[in-house]
Amino acid sequence: MSELLVSGGRVLRPDLTVERADVLVDQSAGEILAVEAPGELSGDDELDASGGLVIPGLVNAHTHVAMTLLRGYADDKPLDAWLQEDIWPVEAELTPEDVRVGAELGLVEMVKSGTTALSDMYFHVDEIAAAVEEAGVRAVLGHTAVTVGKDDEGARADVTQSLDVARELDGAADGRITTTFQPHSLTTVGEEYLREFVPEAVEAGLPMHLHANETEDEVDPLVEEHGVRPLEYADDVGLLGEDTFLAHCVHVDETEIGLLAETGTGAVHCPASNMKLASGMAPVQRLLDGGVTVGLGTDGAASNNDLDMFDEMRDAAMLGKLAAEDASAVAAETVVQMATANGADLLGFDSGRIEAGANADLAVVDLETPHLTPAHDLVSHLAYAAHGSDVRHTVCDGEVLLCDRDVTVFDEAAVRQRASEHAAALVDRAEGN
Ligand SMILES: [Zn+2]
Repeated sequence: MSELLVSGGRVLRPDLTVERADVLVDQSAGEILAVEAPGELSGDDELDASGGLVIPGLVNAHTHVAMTLLRGYADDKPLDAWLQEDIWPVEAELTPEDVRVGAELGLVEMVKSGTTALSDMYFHVDEIAAAVEEAGVRAVLGHTAVTVGKDDEGARADVTQSLDVARELDGAADGRITTTFQPHSLTTVGEEYLREFVPEAVEAGLPMHLHANETEDEVDPLVEEHGVRPLEYADDVGLLGEDTFLAHCVHVDETEIGLLAETGTGAVHCPASNMKLASGMAPVQRLLDGGVTVGLGTDGAASNNDLDMFDEMRDAAMLGKLAAEDASAVAAETVVQMATANGADLLGFDSGRIEAGANADLAVVDLETPHLTPAHDLVSHLAYAAHGSDVRHTVCDGEVLLCDRDVTVFDEAAVRQRASEHAAALVDRAEGN
């Protein structure tokens, strides 16, 4: 048994207090063994956290990691036009190798900014799984099914693939990979397919991850067609429940918030994407007050445009106050919980807290920098002042993935080079050059 001591730093505890402590990690079990006062513990190896704050690894609960290849390709358009004119034509040209390279780039970015778990929606999922296995992080993966614009055979094949991928990949990478069944959204998967396949997913015990209530344009047609709110319709087709989480939930009314809480359905707030696409302001404080578990996600890099969860925490706090017209809404402690424990709960990982028995998923934030000085309140710093680039070490499942800002799991320069080449060739194909 190899034991790693994360020593000399301060530690963010599950109750969000900060204390000077060392953290002992069992590397073979991937578990935190103990958190004790400095000098009480010893390990076979040491990771220097002096001048730093040890925090739970951040959880990016909704993303499309391979979309890094489309970062900065198309901006400043509303969701519909952006998808139809720019994103979907390029995505139609994506090869499995593109997805692999894009995922590697995204994972390098995540590891460098302290993210140790992600929940992803995409396709060519085997490639993403291979990249996740190499990166050493945890991930909830799945194949995202869309039925609109397809004939019945094509639609059924896509939804069936989502079920198959979820069954096949669950437990991969020594259990670091789990899966979800993924209808893309309530408007992009037809009712007949939801009514047929959702019960099958529930029967198979598969958790579910989909987009819901992201824009008003998506809500209105559903209300018109079904005569009820989108999440009432989602409940009717069997989508809501403790194993489901919904990305966005921007346009939800009190009935829908009640339904989410009642059924134990989670929500993933993606503030940067919602602002950039002008989708609206999610009522995050009302969701939380209503008893809904809310996590935090970056969405894809094309609508963000980075995968930095520190940015996302700050955006969530700022936008949450604006939405509530209340400066005390979505406080610093709240966004830190959303990015750690809440996200881990939604994804079903025993992570998100620095405590004996929890998964050894953590990051060390370097506090010795002007923008994190003085140290009145380190939780405030995490929410409002820190950046992903302040992360010095990242550990997941007991393995050191980032050491003194060096990525140990990938050759970072080679990943960036490959990503640049693949992105350029991809855009050339899409634009017919
Ligand atoms: Zn998304």
